[in-house]
Amino acid sequence: MSNRVINLYSDTQSQPTPAMRQAMAEAKVGDEQRGADPTVNALCARVAELLGKEAAVFLPSGTMCNEIAILIHCKHGDEIICERNCHLIVAEGGAPAALAGVMMYQIDGERGIFTAEQVRAATRERNRYAPRSRLVSVEQTSNAGGGSVWPLATIEAVAAAAHEGGLALHMDGARLMNAVVASGITAADFARPFDTVWIDLSKGLGCPVGGVLAGSADLIEEAWVWKQRLGGALRQAGIVAAAGLYALDHNVERLAEDHANAKAFAEAIAEVPGLALDPATVETNLVYFDVTAPGLDAAALSARLLERGVDISAMGKYRMRAVTYLDVGRDEVLTAAAVVSEVMQELAAPAARDAG
Ligand SMILES: *Cc1c(COP(=O)(O)O)cnc(C)c1O
Repeated sequence: MSNRVINLYSDTQSQPTPAMRQAMAEAKVGDEQRGADPTVNALCARVAELLGKEAAVFLPSGTMCNEIAILIHCKHGDEIICERNCHLIVAEGGAPAALAGVMMYQIDGERGIFTAEQVRAATRERNRYAPRSRLVSVEQTSNAGGGSVWPLATIEAVAAAAHEGGLALHMDGARLMNAVVASGITAADFARPFDTVWIDLSKGLGCPVGGVLAGSADLIEEAWVWKQRLGGALRQAGIVAAAGLYALDHNVERLAEDHANAKAFAEAIAEVPGLALDPATVETNLVYFDVTAPGLDAAALSARLLERGVDISAMGKYRMRAVTYLDVGRDEVLTAAAVVSEVMQELAAPAARDAG
């Protein structure tokens, strides 16, 4: 056995492959801020076309894609309708409030997915008392929802409800390409009703850095002003954009392997006593499961697994998340599942419990 850790912490852990690094080394570059980096321009054109939008802008992170989208759609005091556990709310340092001064109307979704009826119920009547409902945000796939894929029909119904209420639409597409590969629906079809939509390059696509935000030419021009203001305008960024182009050529279809590996991992640990998981809920590359063994919590299990060479994150007191991506193969997920099973047996054994 090697001492290498099997890293299921996140799909952000992927390492650029030698071929990706080669593409980066050979990239033609220029001053991105002036619009003169040919590789960044090529990536933006490619993503705009992929998402069926007029224009796109390269940004240093997915978080900046979300926050700039909010800044161009909303004024201070406006309200965004979104799911309670979406990334905007739980993982962006309070940026919607800190940067855009917006309020968040939090819908309780089902595995991160909400309905058109919930959007209608959340949309406030326009009057001088209420915050102005302004934007609906959809996360495809839903991270905290377990990597669940929004069905196209649900997206279309939610979009219709948003439009009835005069609201703009934003998609956090950090893992949109996982949804595309899992469903067979094109990115452009998923993105069609959205005013702004982005994909992350540094998750399952395996790039070191970056996200690309797409929308109408006018909205992307406004996004550029915020990119400049926030210090997100870059120089010879083609070095990293080249990784994005490489990933779109080589790392999209293979996401199916990640999904199959996630499913295999889920099936292998589903029956382990002291854990709760329904493999049928695993649609893409995220596997969430709960620790139900008495006296054990997620942090303790995560620490014990790490000692045994398996990195799985604690996402809550009793919630764990394992993520598959291109550096983790079938053998490794099955080894990881076996380690989870062994560790749970040890932790649940009476002797271990008595020893405290
Ligand atoms: C990772 C993630 C982001 C943020 O992307 P970064 O590139 O890490 O800033 C936004 N939304 C979701 C759903 C994510 O999983």
